[in-house]
Amino acid sequence: MDVYVLSLFPKMLHGFTRSSIIGRAVEEGRVRVHDVQIRDFSTNKHRTVDDAPYGGGSGMVMAAPPIVAAIESLPSVEGIAPRKILLTPSGRLFSQRDAERLAVEPAIALVCGRYEGVDDRVRPYIDEELSIGDYVLTGGELGAAVILDAVVRLLPGVLGNHHSSVDESHGRGGTLEYPQFTRPATFRDVPVPAVLQGGDHKRVARWRRWQALRRTRERRPDLFAKLSLTDKELAELDGDEP
Ligand code: SAM
Repeated sequence: MDVYVLSLFPKMLHGFTRSSIIGRAVEEGRVRVHDVQIRDFSTNKHRTVDDAPYGGGSGMVMAAPPIVAAIESLPSVEGIAPRKILLTPSGRLFSQRDAERLAVEPAIALVCGRYEGVDDRVRPYIDEELSIGDYVLTGGELGAAVILDAVVRLLPGVLGNHHSSVDESHGRGGTLEYPQFTRPATFRDVPVPAVLQGGDHKRVARWRRWQALRRTRERRPDLFAKLSLTDKELAELDGDEP
């Protein structure tokens, strides 16, 4: 996959794309991350990329011409252009389903705003607008890093074979993940649940399912309401741990 980061500060992502799992995916050539410096597409004398907002108001707005020129510079592969995503707090909330959808694209372009955002006339050159949460950041680069991370970890070979996108929180199973434990078996007088140490895989699976459902009901009633559970499962949830 090719990922183009269109930004005034593309280097902000360098530490991130050179470290840990994403860094390894880059090294192994599973993903290629390309910096696209929007300022390089400014045609005016001082290479400015922003201007005061029409109608007045505080701050500056990123001008359309350099952003659109940067977008139009992106290469198409076999006639397919990268899917162009604008990071904006007024976009649709990014979710795991979006990560799954974008992970099968051959190329994506993440367009990062700054200042008070981008001139609205950029929108026709964009395929979708995504927000990473209901808060306002100073720029789109962290949002680009979030999307890049969520997408790249789904690419084949990046996480290895044991990864299950069903059990994981926000996976296809629709629940949050069950609690996880590792050694030591007892930490500050708190033992790992006995069922996980017993080696009975069926019991472990039942316990994990019960925990995942309880956790989802407590923490995310909105997700819990979307699950189709049997009467038996619902009744068991109010009983003792399996
Ligand atoms: N004035 C804009 C508004 O109220 O919607 C906020 C602009 S913000 C300070 C500057 C840039 O940061 C945006 O253009 C966008 O690229 C990025 N940004 C800020 N918050 C974001 C969020 N929650 N999700 C995605 N991008 C965000």
